[in-house]
Amino acid sequence: MPRQVSYNLIKKIPETDISIADMPEGHIGEGFFATSLNKVIGLARKNSIWPLPFATSCCGIEFMATMGAHYDLGRFGSERVGFSPRQCDLLMVMGTIAKKMGPVLKQVYIQMAEPRWVMAVGACASSGGIFDTYSVLQGIDQIVPVDVYVPGCAPRPEAILDGVMRVQDLVGKESLRRRNSQFYKDLLASYGIQ
Ligand code: SF4
Repeated sequence: MPRQVSYNLIKKIPETDISIADMPEGHIGEGFFATSLNKVIGLARKNSIWPLPFATSCCGIEFMATMGAHYDLGRFGSERVGFSPRQCDLLMVMGTIAKKMGPVLKQVYIQMAEPRWVMAVGACASSGGIFDTYSVLQGIDQIVPVDVYVPGCAPRPEAILDGVMRVQDLVGKESLRRRNSQFYKDLLASYGIQ
């Protein structure tokens, strides 16, 4: 008797069940689709952001929940968390940053390659939070430029996800030339970064 062969047929999934990235604006015609390089690179970048979690206290725990199966940062293409600044795009600062730690944070930022973005997660990273003391940095924007601030003490994972989506908005729309602009150079110069 011949052995039964079963085929692993893939069922067609209705389109509504698939989450797909939005197509960039462009021109569609019969047999072609054209868009600008800015838009297509923005689309690729915004859906593959690699975060570097710089977590020092309680907000870091919320980030751990954000990485877990329930909230799943991987849905945004950001599940590849890196602890090497040279391989990451998004510096996520979560927790109280003591003034002594400021130069370390700045060094991490400097070691990241362009293009890079920064997110201040929670009240402490954004403004020092409840720690209005001599030893705590009153906001990381005193030492590095920040793109997105996430409010809360501690912000829930939904708020962190919202912050990631706001960063995605910036990344998707950012011109390839922005990093060479005089405005951006002046911004970095104001932080003493070249
Ligand atoms: S903002 Fe609140 S939860 Fe976050 S690190 Fe500061 S004290 Fe902790």
